[in-house]
Amino acid sequence: MIAGGEPRPSRKRAVVLALVLVLVALAAPLASSTVREGIEVRWLARSLRSRDPEVREETRVRLLAIGRPAIDPVFPEIVAGLVVEADSGWIFLGRVRDRTPEGTTYEHENTALDREKLFRVQVSVLGEPGFSRSARMLFRSDARRELVLGHGASAHPMGRQVEIYALQEARVMVPLDDELAPAVIEAVKKKLEETSYECPACEVSSKTPGVCPQCDKPLKRRE
Ligand SMILES: [Zn+2]
Repeated sequence: MIAGGEPRPSRKRAVVLALVLVLVALAAPLASSTVREGIEVRWLARSLRSRDPEVREETRVRLLAIGRPAIDPVFPEIVAGLVVEADSGWIFLGRVRDRTPEGTTYEHENTALDREKLFRVQVSVLGEPGFSRSARMLFRSDARRELVLGHGASAHPMGRQVEIYALQEARVMVPLDDELAPAVIEAVKKKLEETSYECPACEVSSKTPGVCPQCDKPLKRRE
């Protein structure tokens, strides 16, 4: 005899099986779209190494439109390429202290990325990044920590403890709030080490953008 109301074991198994089938049916399209996205991301990412700067920028835009976390495996490469192409004299890691529509003030973090020797510095940057479409897509107004590239620095020494710099132009601002930050910083460092600039007229070469110290012509990045 089976107690009234208790489903029989075989019926239980059938219910469990049906539930499993329903879950599989629900999960399958999700899994395959993730796989499809992964393949698409890797396929697109090959063009990040194109010799054509326009193709590289278009690829960054397409990848950023797919968005994180799908593009996480290639995100450091996206940022490193953009950083190099922005040809900024200023690059630093900063914690956001204050942000208004006019600009952002940072507490500078010392890293090997710095092109200037800095000591306890605050940096303010005017406006939002305007280097390219991909730079604008990367920007997040709620980021608390950013990799910043800019131009047009002026220094305002404030005693011995703090120096304040103001950058007139923001080129790239990359949010580095999560666990991907060390990989991004490493990729940027590596790419910067491989990059150099030269004067189109003289023999002068330099690791940083700017003007030729001999003839004042703008230095060109070696592609
Ligand atoms: Zn020169």
